[in-house]
Amino acid sequence: MASVYSLVSDSNPDLDDFARAITGNVIRPGEPEYDGLRRIHNTLADKRPSVIVRAADAADVAKTVDYAKVTGLELAVRAGGHSVPGYSVTEGGIMLDLSGMKGLHIDAEQRLAWAQPGVTAGEFTNAAAAHGLATPFGDTGDVGIAGLTLGGGIGFLVRKYGLAIDNLVSVELVTAEGRTVTASEDVNPDLFWAIRGGGGNFGVVTRFQYRLVPVGMTLSGALILPLSADVVRGLVTVANAAPEELSTIACVMYVPPVPFVPESLHFKPAVIVLFVHASDDMAAGQAALEPFRQLATPLAEAVIPMPYPGIYDFTAEAGKPGPGVVRSLFLDGLDDDVAAEIVERMSAPSSPRAVTQIRVLGGAMARVPAESTAFAHRDAGVLVAILTAFENPDELAIHEAWTVDFFAALRPKGRGVYSNFLEAEGEARIREAYPTATYERLAEIKAKYDPTNVFRMNQNIKPAAGGEGRGSGVL
Ligand SMILES: Cc1cc2nc3c(=O)[nH]c(=O)nc-3n(C[C@H](O)[C@H](O)[C@H](O)COP(=O)(O)OP(=O)(O)OC[C@H]3O[C@@H](n4cnc5c(N)ncnc54)[C@H](O)[C@@H]3O)c2cc1C
Repeated sequence: MASVYSLVSDSNPDLDDFARAITGNVIRPGEPEYDGLRRIHNTLADKRPSVIVRAADAADVAKTVDYAKVTGLELAVRAGGHSVPGYSVTEGGIMLDLSGMKGLHIDAEQRLAWAQPGVTAGEFTNAAAAHGLATPFGDTGDVGIAGLTLGGGIGFLVRKYGLAIDNLVSVELVTAEGRTVTASEDVNPDLFWAIRGGGGNFGVVTRFQYRLVPVGMTLSGALILPLSADVVRGLVTVANAAPEELSTIACVMYVPPVPFVPESLHFKPAVIVLFVHASDDMAAGQAALEPFRQLATPLAEAVIPMPYPGIYDFTAEAGKPGPGVVRSLFLDGLDDDVAAEIVERMSAPSSPRAVTQIRVLGGAMARVPAESTAFAHRDAGVLVAILTAFENPDELAIHEAWTVDFFAALRPKGRGVYSNFLEAEGEARIREAYPTATYERLAEIKAKYDPTNVFRMNQNIKPAAGGEGRGSGVL
């Protein structure tokens, strides 16, 4: 596609001309909104883009992609702003901010939804719940559907209804060429395969179409158990044996000062099992929880019939911005050694806000053939994530050292990583997010759709050899 900006000057394209062509807003350093807009969830990513484009539509996105190519400026794509490594903001480059694109249409009859990339998991889930429907996203309402879906999307419905990508029907996407294309099982199927786990490597998604599944009232909440290796190991066993309606995320952490927990337990290490039993059969939900209660006498419980979005109230704190360090890995299961390691480390974490999450997978997620999407760790039994949030950014080195050391102790038992829980950990770790054949196919598709690696602020897949400069990435 010929660039309008290249007609102005390829070497020094005029930002004013670009800004005039944008329907949304173009914000520069010094403008009142600038500092608020450049901030994302990971406040360690304290970067200053040379321009922030608040896109209004796919045409704005295409013009911004074009402008990035003409100027050679680094392009960061921001939707919900919860990138773990902070890739949605750039130093000196262009921040393409999609957070204002909040169009959402729920077709309850067809059980389909269209959503623009600025929609958050909470906003989508609330709107769908009004019809007794849902699409599986993650554990936190403030996270964007966009970044979450493009990495896979593992949440509270994973065992019953799979990943977010397992419920994705099609997308509208702006390519590196500036073309708006559709990708689905039938249209550009290679692209559709790649974006289901390959992240933002292949273009900017401007619309997602999802299937909706029936989720009305649920039995959901938190069960707080004493911290011991027996409890940690045992909860994986019982979560695996539970009916698929029950998905759990166990958080080994200091108990926060919440009203349903006696004050004597506040700030003491414990296991907080967050769960959703996705069925309106409350008795079945209670029965599914009983084996957890048998692991040890619960210290406290908040087990409540609630509409599905209610679970986001339990995780709202995690959605707030702040500094943090993350390391994570998939495991086949959780043996005595791993359980003991988690208990020892979490009994004296570097930060009182550190959490080790244990997500037991399986069910619907595992039934999808590994080769059918770029997210291929379908048979992983457990996802363990060390999430070390802290207050004072000057203490980064302390918390990083603690987190990395803990991770190193677990790593020999690991078998890959979830791309959405990766920090900037280097090329070898990106490769761990994909089996070799999957990575190679992703690299081929990258070479076809983004041969010059315009979309590189992500867990970057390098275009396959011969891809750079090949194809249609040239203006
Ligand atoms: C508090 C917290 C809780 C989380 N919980 C879960 C969870 O339960 N399950 C889970 O699976 N993940 C979870 N995550 C990880 C989350 O899925 C990723 O961080 C995801 O990338 C966030 O998406 P976003 O749109 O909010 O982020 P952004 O920072 O806006 O985007 C992240 C990256 O995605 C890409 N991207 C975003 N939008 C687009 C687009 N429209 N087109 C192309 N590329 C795009 C870009 O590369 C961007 O850098 C969590 C993260 C946090 C911080």
